[in-house]
Amino acid sequence: MMSSKKSDRIERNSTLIDPSGRLSTGRLGSQVDPHSLVNHQAGWIEVVCGPMFSGKTEELIRRLRRAQIARQRVEIFKPTIDVRYSLDAVVSHDETAIKSVAVDTAEQILLLAGSALVVGVDEAQFFGLELVSVVQMLAQQGRRVVIAGLDLDYRGVPFEPVPQLMAVAEYVTKLHAVCMVCGGPAIFSQRLVKEGKRVLVGSKSAYEPRCRSCFVPPVEAKPKGRRPKAQKSKAPKTVNPATARDKP
Ligand code: ADP
Ligand code: MG
Ligand code: ZN
Repeated sequence: MMSSKKSDRIERNSTLIDPSGRLSTGRLGSQVDPHSLVNHQAGWIEVVCGPMFSGKTEELIRRLRRAQIARQRVEIFKPTIDVRYSLDAVVSHDETAIKSVAVDTAEQILLLAGSALVVGVDEAQFFGLELVSVVQMLAQQGRRVVIAGLDLDYRGVPFEPVPQLMAVAEYVTKLHAVCMVCGGPAIFSQRLVKEGKRVLVGSKSAYEPRCRSCFVPPVEAKPKGRRPKAQKSKAPKTVNPATARDKP
């Protein structure tokens, strides 16, 4: 059970949503430190992204632990697809862990968030675009939402919904791993096994982080077939706006 003080806070927060459904930004100025333990009245979204092994889960756990230390009610969700280490905990590659709830869909997060003031989501890339509206609703309700996920897939292509979440977030942290070839800053997750499916849950044996120079995109990521023949454009010819302005 959470204290009535905390539930009051969430109720009070909902009054910060104006009739158009937008958050009052009065308390969300650029001065807000997302890592501070001060209880801000309005909710917000933090995204932690990067390749595999970049420390996203560690960073998520670090932020959520601090919220717990501040006695804020925290709920953490992860997709049921990812039960590599545990079903009821988010676990980093370094084996730091925090208790979590495994869910099948983003909508379940909305239903199970209850009165949590802070909501964490790991492996956001497995939830699909539905997560974007769910996360925004949670923030509108006055909650702090911390999301961790891969921003690029194994081909180096943006991996929805993380790029969309980055766009609507107040705070974005892009982490780098260590490139396993040259030791440089890695932003790509090189798949080491031959598998064409976008989702392949695995860790050390299936992927390794690589930097831009060492990353080798898989062949299937290249556009297939011949380039379409150049078609005659139906669009009007480019007009110089400076000279065209006065013409009818
Ligand atoms: P992510 O959630 O981004 O996949 P984790 O937070 O689970 O990453 O794990 C990060 C940890 O992985 C690091 O603290 C480090 O101990 C370990 N690690 C293993 N390989 C690498 C690497 N190539 N670069 C950085 N960290 C690595
Ligand atoms: Mg992780
Ligand atoms: Zn490299």
